[in-house]
Amino acid sequence: MRAVLFDLDGTLHDRAAGLVAFVRDQFIRFGIDPKQLNRFVSRFIALDANGKVWKTEVYSQLIKEFELMGSPTVEALVKEYLGLYPGFAMPMADAKYVLEILKTRQIVVGIVTNGRSDLQRSVITALGFDALVSAIVISEEVGVRKPQREIFDRALKKLGVSAAETIFVGDDAVADIEGALNAGLYTVAFHCVAPEEVTSTNTLREVLQAIDSRFDTHHLATGNAA
Ligand SMILES: [Mg+2]
Repeated sequence: MRAVLFDLDGTLHDRAAGLVAFVRDQFIRFGIDPKQLNRFVSRFIALDANGKVWKTEVYSQLIKEFELMGSPTVEALVKEYLGLYPGFAMPMADAKYVLEILKTRQIVVGIVTNGRSDLQRSVITALGFDALVSAIVISEEVGVRKPQREIFDRALKKLGVSAAETIFVGDDAVADIEGALNAGLYTVAFHCVAPEEVTSTNTLREVLQAIDSRFDTHHLATGNAA
């Protein structure tokens, strides 16, 4: 059995692009002064810190800085984010293509992501990844987060594969790369700084090449033709 585990945000899911589209739409509906649109979007993106800061804090700050129609509460804005964001989610270029290719090659695929279960599951569904992955492991559901080793172990167990036959692909130097290396996984860095021994890629097509060469090399090295 051969397997690939992917991070979600910034790897299969272009969260940066989806978030800008969602925030623009939200400001157009709530913002009083249209001239503030670009500043609102950039403040949201800065406060969000790549999803590391929960939206309650982001919106608490934004409602202090901007005048919004109907003076919505933080709770109302967070609820809107959870409900509407998935409709703005965009896949990373070639994400679906790569998942489909892996499926035709009978390589099992899983997603390992930190975050809220409801949101991440809605995003995965919205992007049409459900049918292409065999396991979804979300930190809120399992009570452990990347880079903790346990979350990687949980994903391997769910797929029924060993660390030695699995590749991990992610875009966060600590959560993904350090975490996956520590869990004993062959690791591919996508758009991030990584140690020299880690394969670095900038497109998902390159990730596919890295996956191919890793598995081929593995087969040659072990003489295993399966
Ligand atoms: Mg990520």
